Amino acid sequence: MTLSGKTAVITGSNSGIGLGVAEALAAAGADVVLNSFTDRPEDHALAADLAARHGVKARYIAADMADGAACRDLIAQAGACDILVNNAGIQHVAAIENFPTAMWDRIIAINLSSAFHTTAAALLGMKAKGWGRVINIASAHGLTASPFKSAYIAAKHGVVGLSKTTALEVAGLGITANAICPGYVLTPLVEAQIPDQMQVHGMDRDTVIREVMLLRQPSRQFATVEQIGGTAVYLCSPAADQVTGTTISVDGGWTAL
Ligand code: NAD
Repeated sequence: MTLSGKTAVITGSNSGIGLGVAEALAAAGADVVLNSFTDRPEDHALAADLAARHGVKARYIAADMADGAACRDLIAQAGACDILVNNAGIQHVAAIENFPTAMWDRIIAINLSSAFHTTAAALLGMKAKGWGRVINIASAHGLTASPFKSAYIAAKHGVVGLSKTTALEVAGLGITANAICPGYVLTPLVEAQIPDQMQVHGMDRDTVIREVMLLRQPSRQFATVEQIGGTAVYLCSPAADQVTGTTISVDGGWTAL
């Protein structure tokens, strides 16, 4: 399959899952637009590297996904958006009664409202072309809950609902909308937590991964950014033309428990 001629916009893609999805889509031939809120030479270098290695067009556009107008402007600046991957996300851990209101608002804005704004901005172009893919990176926490992550879990459940509604509004128009629900994925952010966890629990790396971090993931293995990227490429393939309004879990069995 080739995605040659398609342009993918991936929010929050200067690291982790977003960058992995961009890599997979570029490897499949799509032109890609990377994004985060920073505007550093190294951000633009990521796009240049993808372009050089995959022979596609790649750009980095700085835009703050906490700002609705900036979300819509990202899509406008991209020029085309055949594949929209809503991936930007942050986390905060606190009990509901102590959860800072500003942090609740920020998580809802970045993890949920940004997907509403980018989708609203992208659908017109997709409808005009009669083809489009909206891929929302939700989470196992879009389907299940854990304590102390109220804003994140509310936002991720919201993303799953938004994906379903989007799918219904564009059904039959060549456009699909789905949510990928990863379990624990080994991103640089997660990797950085391993030494601290080893120290706190007095365990070696393998034991802390298996017995602490992946306690709820029955495979006791991390998902990888390559697996999330491969799932996104599948959703862009003709095999997934009738896959819409649903969730695809990549979670080692977490949500089967
Ligand atoms: P990450 O921190 O590496 O990636 C988050 C990305 O969002 C980064 O590129 C960051 O720069 C960007 N971002 C943050 N705030 C932003 C803002 N205001 N504007 C624009 N970009 C912003 O973490 P990750 O693990 O790759 O997470 C990516 C997505 O996957 C998130 O939505 C996260 O909730 C989801 N997810 C991650 C895991 C996991 O285990 N790593 C599991 C399930 C879901």
